[in-house]
Amino acid sequence: MRETTDILISGGGVAGLAAACALGTAGFRVICVDPAPPVTSAEAAGADLRTTAFLQPSRSVLEGAGLWSRLAPHAAPLQVMRIIDAGGPTPEARLVTDFDAADISDAPFGWNLPNWLLRREMLARIAELPQVGLRSGVGFARLLTREAEAIVTLSDGSRIAARLVIGADGRDSPLREALGIGARSFRYGQKALAFAVTHPHPHRNVTTEVHRSGGPFTLVPLPDRDGSPASAVVWMESGAEVARLAALPVPEFEAEMTARSSGILGPLTLASRRSVWPIISRIADRMSGQRTVLMAEAAHVVPPIGAQGLNMSLADLACLLELVGKHRQDPGLPAVTEAYHRRRHREVQARVTGIDLLNRASMAGAQPLRDLRARALDLIYGARPVRQALMRAGLGVGPKAEAAAGG
Ligand SMILES: Cc1cc2nc3c(=O)[nH]c(=O)nc-3n(C[C@H](O)[C@H](O)[C@H](O)COP(=O)(O)OP(=O)(O)OC[C@H]3O[C@@H](n4cnc5c(N)ncnc54)[C@H](O)[C@@H]3O)c2cc1C
Repeated sequence: MRETTDILISGGGVAGLAAACALGTAGFRVICVDPAPPVTSAEAAGADLRTTAFLQPSRSVLEGAGLWSRLAPHAAPLQVMRIIDAGGPTPEARLVTDFDAADISDAPFGWNLPNWLLRREMLARIAELPQVGLRSGVGFARLLTREAEAIVTLSDGSRIAARLVIGADGRDSPLREALGIGARSFRYGQKALAFAVTHPHPHRNVTTEVHRSGGPFTLVPLPDRDGSPASAVVWMESGAEVARLAALPVPEFEAEMTARSSGILGPLTLASRRSVWPIISRIADRMSGQRTVLMAEAAHVVPPIGAQGLNMSLADLACLLELVGKHRQDPGLPAVTEAYHRRRHREVQARVTGIDLLNRASMAGAQPLRDLRARALDLIYGARPVRQALMRAGLGVGPKAEAAAGG
């Protein structure tokens, strides 16, 4: 007999697991499938050592999914975003601009959490939801859609009939492929190194992006480690330079990263393994098909600048939750899938374009271009109203969101 469910999610990465928690909490029967079992400790092989800075609007999605109370005790608040231009002949900070969350709301910009811990807490939440099933070790293989349902064949040959199928199966999404939906990609020849550091100076809940060449060097606050202030680092450079840095002995690596940070937190000490991530931008031509929607990296990939990636994914989820909430009997109707595409695609396109531009500006290697970047940053970020508008745009909140964001 064929199994049935309201919603099938292809992909149990952070986005797919968050969707399973949120849609299950909203009362839908959900099955989430992923060929790879989730890794839920920092030490285990294959652990995702990145962290995610969740911005203000994502918090309410996590609350609605029954996740925030689990995550809050592990979260480091992000109060100030500091942009440093260190593009002069030597890597010293020559222009510093602060964006203080207090200028637009009572709450911090966001909260930073390790990705492996997100997976652990999301699995624990799913265990509390009897209507949500997580199938690890089995993946999406084929899809047949009809007006009334979608039939998914899994990699073990079993079949599930669902009202709605969500593709949260990553940047090379097999569901997107099965739907014949194309995607546009931009390549930069860049990679990112992600790791944790400790440092003698406290971070005071300031996230710092240092721009010199090759891409940004970003320090994001973490809770203290063994009594020392700690931060997560994302360091973007050309692929060849990242390969060289990743292979350096630790003392040389520490000297290079301290210089690249302009020394703002004192000498940096490596406190984790170094993991390497390829950097691209990608946007799917559409975000829905018959009885299907695409979310997260299946729909959009951006370089890790301004913490937009997973936050855009939770904005996808918030939009979907609102739409399926109006069609509880059948969450896969065109009224859901078409409206989801219309509401999300333009917004996602604007963000992908904006982050692509910021990344290209940060990569500038030639001195005149770096000087131009510093002048542009000074001009743009110098005026307070412009800074406030940019902060709201970065968060994805409108001018009236202050009161709501304050709580
Ligand atoms: C260095 C770095 C730092 C970042 N920092 C931030 C940040 O601070 N804030 C932020 O918002 N974003 C950040 N991002 C972006 C964020 O990490 C990603 O958006 C997010 O991890 C992607 O999640 P996902 O669930 O869409 O994709 P993935 O994590 O790739 O998950 C896709 C899942 O689909 C599964 N899958 C594959 N094939 C199948 C199949 N056939 N059937 C079913 N499942 C399948 C895979 O096994 C995988 O588990 C960062 C990214 C990088 C590279």
